[in-house]
Amino acid sequence: MPETPGQPGGAADGSGPPVEPRRIATISLHTSPLDQPGTGDAGGMNVYIVEVAKRLAERGVAVDVFTRATGLGQPPEVEMAPGVTVRHVSAGPFGALDKDTLARHLCPFIFGVLRTEARNEPGHYDLVHGHYWLSGRAGAVAAQRWGVPLVQSMHTLAKVKNVSLADGDVPEPEVRVRGEDHLVRSADHLVANTADEAAQLVRYYDADPARVTTVPPGVDLDVFTPGSRAASLRRIGLPEDAELLLFVGRVQRLKAPDVLMRAAARLLQRDPSLRGRLVVAVVGGLSGRDAAEPRRLTELARSLGIADAVRMEPPRSRTELAHYYRAATATVVPSYSESFGLVAVESEACGTPVVAARVGGLPTAVSDGVSGVLIDGHDPDDYARVLHRMITEPAWRDSLGAAAVGHAAGLSWSATVDGLLGVYRGTLAGSPLPVAANQ
Ligand code: UDP
Repeated sequence: MPETPGQPGGAADGSGPPVEPRRIATISLHTSPLDQPGTGDAGGMNVYIVEVAKRLAERGVAVDVFTRATGLGQPPEVEMAPGVTVRHVSAGPFGALDKDTLARHLCPFIFGVLRTEARNEPGHYDLVHGHYWLSGRAGAVAAQRWGVPLVQSMHTLAKVKNVSLADGDVPEPEVRVRGEDHLVRSADHLVANTADEAAQLVRYYDADPARVTTVPPGVDLDVFTPGSRAASLRRIGLPEDAELLLFVGRVQRLKAPDVLMRAAARLLQRDPSLRGRLVVAVVGGLSGRDAAEPRRLTELARSLGIADAVRMEPPRSRTELAHYYRAATATVVPSYSESFGLVAVESEACGTPVVAARVGGLPTAVSDGVSGVLIDGHDPDDYARVLHRMITEPAWRDSLGAAAVGHAAGLSWSATVDGLLGVYRGTLAGSPLPVAANQ
């Protein structure tokens, strides 16, 4: 709790003392902050919610995270960290449900959230923060019922995804597009991860720019630290002379791990002396529609003649991941669409440069020519050329790695929480937010 809590809802003209939130309801319908990131639908948004909730609580703002229960044995509430409670709400059948199906279970989820809150004193929550459109739809009803503001983070946008689909990918459904359109109008304030996302909200959804604030996500600089590459290679079971090209994340077409594999095959054609030393590691679990094609990437590796160089690794804990980043020559993020790209910043914080597609938040996460290289498009030859240079010009690669540490140091979760608290205070006070926040 804050030492001197303000009066949420007061100072409507923004002239009074800052209005401090004391307790917020965070909605994360489709994926739980307790899930291992890199598994199923759990990814950057989970990491974001966990890191932000912990730090908000440390600053005296209690956080309840409402998520859908996926198992019979789950307790109704779990204390994730001091001041952070995860509340499991029954809605639909237990077990994982794909996001399209989840849209049909919104009503019972909303009912569960309202029923949970009804056990508290009126005015328990000062504000609702929805993450992803499904949560926003639930959050909008809860916020209206409780008479508090709704702050919404979309994380990804259907209209943006639909203009940058990978080959064979299925467009996002119309129900999501309509849901996001509605949410842009009903939320009191929208939080974008990057200036690019803020501009997309305005361009594709006609959002009012005065109600959009950019707050970049961060990186845990205690976990993701530089370290010895040779020791890390040994730690993950590779020889010290290996050249490791790393992919980390949910394995799905949109993130294009196949582009990395094709690039590795081109690289070996270009420089056969690397055969036996070049390793491609894909760390993460199958996600979304890709779960239906579990053998797609291993079959691709075989058809490219690089099966012996490819390691498909299960999702790893964050501490374990740090060893992979430190061991890598480069982390490759060839996504077709990426709302921010936490993986890129984690790699940089570990001193490993990133080779990424110039899409979405990646130009923010990666400083082109400084902490890595951004590539236009998804031609494997372009990736192979840059990766080959990183292998054959280690001094250049190392200078990028050193600068990467500095770049990542500018992106802390603490700064994210500063930005979010600014949004919460401004929204509670009903005052327009500083234009400077909309970079
Ligand atoms: N991640 C993880 N273990 C894994 C794979 C991924 O902890 O095995 C984490 C990764 O460290 C990152 C997040 O999942 O923090 C993925 O976030 P990103 O923004 O890169 O992608 P998103 O999932 O949001 O599309």
